[in-house]
Amino acid sequence: MRRIRSHDTSPEMAVRRAVYSMGYRYRLHVSTLPGKPDIVLPRLMKIIQVHGCFWRQHSGCIDSHIPKSRIPYWKPKLERNHQRDAENRRKLRNLVWKVCIVWECQAKATSKLFKRLARFLRV
Ligand SMILES: [Zn+2]
Repeated sequence: MRRIRSHDTSPEMAVRRAVYSMGYRYRLHVSTLPGKPDIVLPRLMKIIQVHGCFWRQHSGCIDSHIPKSRIPYWKPKLERNHQRDAENRRKLRNLVWKVCIVWECQAKATSKLFKRLARFLRV
């Protein structure tokens, strides 16, 4: 699928910088893994996905809102994204990868994000 936005969106960069500053090294957009995950730590078998709140329909998030008039257009597209994400997550977990999802609205360089990533990445 063609991605509408580039990979280097600022939420993803914020997460990458946070992970890097904690001393972890990673690979980006690994095409041999299901769904070409954003941030991959092969030695730890851990993956961090940064999801756009609109594109991946962050449930309950204000940024996931679809304007009423645009629902017939967006809903099927976004539902497909959602299904594909769920399928890819399932495949990754079957391959014993651990997956952490960071939503765009959570990807600010705050102490909360750092704590969450540190907890996830700790062996
Ligand atoms: Zn959100």
